[in-house]
Amino acid sequence: MPIQIILEKCTGCTLCIKACPFDAIRMMDKLESSGLASSSQSQKKAVIDLNKCNLCGACVPVCKLKAILLETEKASCILPDIKGYKGVWVFVEQKNGKVQSVAYELLGKAQELARKLNCQVSGVLIGNNMDDQLDELIWRGADNIYLVEAAELANFQDEPYTNILVKLVQKYKPEIFLCGATAIGRSLISRVAINIKAGLTADCTGLDIDPDKKILLQTRPAFGGNIMATIISPNYRPQMATVRHKVMQPMEPDKRRKGKIIKENFGPNIYASRTKLIDIVEEIESLVNIAEADIIVSGGRGMVGAENFKILEELAHVIGAAVGASRAAVDSGWMPYSHQVGQTGRTVAPKIYIACGISGQIQHLVGMQSSKIIVAINKDPDAPIFKVATYGVVGDLFQIVPALSKKFKETLRK
Ligand SMILES: Cc1cc2nc3c(=O)[nH]c(=O)nc-3n(C[C@H](O)[C@H](O)[C@H](O)COP(=O)(O)OP(=O)(O)OC[C@H]3O[C@@H](n4cnc5c(N)ncnc54)[C@H](O)[C@@H]3O)c2cc1C
Repeated sequence: MPIQIILEKCTGCTLCIKACPFDAIRMMDKLESSGLASSSQSQKKAVIDLNKCNLCGACVPVCKLKAILLETEKASCILPDIKGYKGVWVFVEQKNGKVQSVAYELLGKAQELARKLNCQVSGVLIGNNMDDQLDELIWRGADNIYLVEAAELANFQDEPYTNILVKLVQKYKPEIFLCGATAIGRSLISRVAINIKAGLTADCTGLDIDPDKKILLQTRPAFGGNIMATIISPNYRPQMATVRHKVMQPMEPDKRRKGKIIKENFGPNIYASRTKLIDIVEEIESLVNIAEADIIVSGGRGMVGAENFKILEELAHVIGAAVGASRAAVDSGWMPYSHQVGQTGRTVAPKIYIACGISGQIQHLVGMQSSKIIVAINKDPDAPIFKVATYGVVGDLFQIVPALSKKFKETLRK
């Protein structure tokens, strides 16, 4: 048992119940908890519900009688040898033979991390006939490219891609492995992590290197976005993280950069898959791909109703923007989910983000605060959105937005 109560020591003081954040401990009669037949002496003892307990250990130090035994990771397993792991790797996602921009963003970040670790950056590219994409990867940060090509690998498939990445990690032992938090990336890298018994921090918004310990600091919103948690993975390698599209900045291409191509072939058995790719269907969502837009006009609860989004659509039409929305607007059914910006929607980083009637809660901000220019229109001068805004307009959006459309129409016509 990973955690247990020593019934002989427990006095039923209930301190552990108060300390447990998961409501996993309760008091029971000693006889009930030990499964023994009844006796005249009945005393309450703590009992842990293992279905609720996540072994966080919060109950252990509060027990003054040392009646709770938690088997720590160090005691229960031998930690793997992490010596010899070196280099920062990036999974290079491709679709239809074209490298996706999230890979360039990750290579840019990987270069920054590698400089602090004094090591190299490698891209891992799986596909078919990818030669025309290799230079750009090197110009944008890859020192090496591990290239695995075959007709069977032209399109992403979970099992073959996972098997290849596992083999590559086992052979070359990277210290850090980054992947885009895209539909493909999320599906793939979690499978890789479980196979190589490494940890994985999903949806990081910040990555850095601890200057003393030289380990990866992986920052991401936690507890519904109310805090930013920095997560470390000191005992396992590689340290693995996913990062959403548009969170990191790509490097400017440097055509003088030189890199090494390392071709790998693991034989036909690696292509085996329990699933079969039948067809690739263009996403309808891509029609409103706010993640790629240069300008976004977004509306929140302050829009009051679905019909009012037409004033945002008009402004968007005039200035060539896409329309985004806060979760409050999406949850109210005023806009489809594909337009939602934020922690549980899209992460965007346009040149201009115009937030109309959006208060600026942290879950919204994490999805748009990398925008170059943020314009906030809100009638509440204390709205948190103004803290991140480049330009703030305090006022009624129903007057300001139509006035902006009118002015832009006049100006752009000239
Ligand atoms: C786990 C989790 C995930 C979440 N994910 C997301 C997410 O992905 N995206 C997201 O957006 N939210 C997300 N949220 C919700 C988030 O916490 C906020 O509730 C939400 O962002 C609020 O939306 P809002 O700013 O439109 O509404 P409100 O907070 O209600 O703000 C409305 C604003 O409109 C202003 N206003 C009203 N009328 C006018 C007017 N006429 N003119 C000008 N201003 C006006 C008000 O002053 C106010 O500031 C998430 C929450 C949780 C717990």
